[in-house]
Amino acid sequence: ALTIGIVGLPNVGKSTLFNALTRNNVLAANYPFATIEPNVGVVNLPDERLGKLAEVFGSARILPATVSFVDIAGIVKGASEGEGLGNQFLANIREAEAIAQVIRVFDDPDVVHVDGKVDPRSDMETINTELILADLQTIEKALPRLEKAVKLKQKEAAELAAVQAAQQVLERGDTIFSSITSDKLELGYLKELSLLTAKPFIYVFNVDDAVLGSPERQAELRELVAPADAIFLDAKLEADLVELSEEEAREMLEMNGQEESGLDQLARVGFHTLGLQTYLTAGPKEARAWTIRQGDTAPQAAGVIHTDFQRGFIKAEVVHFADLIEAGSMAEAKAKGKVRIEGKEYVMADGDVVEFRFNV
Ligand code: GDP
Repeated sequence: ALTIGIVGLPNVGKSTLFNALTRNNVLAANYPFATIEPNVGVVNLPDERLGKLAEVFGSARILPATVSFVDIAGIVKGASEGEGLGNQFLANIREAEAIAQVIRVFDDPDVVHVDGKVDPRSDMETINTELILADLQTIEKALPRLEKAVKLKQKEAAELAAVQAAQQVLERGDTIFSSITSDKLELGYLKELSLLTAKPFIYVFNVDDAVLGSPERQAELRELVAPADAIFLDAKLEADLVELSEEEAREMLEMNGQEESGLDQLARVGFHTLGLQTYLTAGPKEARAWTIRQGDTAPQAAGVIHTDFQRGFIKAEVVHFADLIEAGSMAEAKAKGKVRIEGKEYVMADGDVVEFRFNV
């Protein structure tokens, strides 16, 4: 499954955030037969289109797309030395598709900071240094083999050059992800190495009211982690929000000057960072969003519903959400010529409302 791994120093609020993520467990409610791993938290991807779609089709229920987070405990300063990052840690983080790094910004004399003071830049560097050192070890181990393979013409010289370029970035103290554009890194050649810092990063700043209400302070923190995405939330507030009814939660957010909960933000930004998009299906039973990758074709999209749909794919009846809503009904959209018949080569667009035709 597509999961985002949560990392961070001790005492930055990871467990608090993670509890909010698991309390909010939507899987259990929406997908009663899904197995839920104890270290996985799932959030709904907020999607206003589903409500409107449900109105058009008279759908009995709404099933949004979800984003999963996995708790990756166990990173501290010096973790990559000696025994190296723990095996379990490495296995967990390698499986994650993206990394959300929680950084403490809140000040609280009752909560000890492992390095003695609240310093977002230093925290970020501590974590990234460990990941960078782990990647450097991976590269150093791989290089002799790669050099030999290039000599024997079993591999392209360009692959060796790409790995060496990555090594330079890491030696400079930068992550691969933050240097992809600036250093023109060839990710394709690096795939095989499964480098930790080549994964997309999201920075989650755990802040207090003062920062939640300060665009200036947020801009400074954003600057610190650019070009990676940043979100700002108060983990304690998030933990409280999931205990409330929808109505109460909205009021509490308003009181804190927020339009959207941190968990919703995290789901949205995570979804985007993972390069995902959704398409929609609707009928009297349910209006539902399905997760696909940007660039997926119609048969691939059908495969997300059922592998048989992909195998037996014939065609897709597609109307864009905006066109459907403007028309007001499926029949009216058809009458206006807004419903297209698409074949195997069709590349899906975000917000396509689809019905698949297939052989079984
Ligand atoms: P972890 O070690 O990163 O998992 O951190 P925890 O989630 O266990 O949090 C460490 C301590 O900080 C706990 O006592 C939390 O209640 C507290 N804490 C977490 N988030 C916040 C926050 O946003 N504000 C304040 N004041 N305290 C927080």
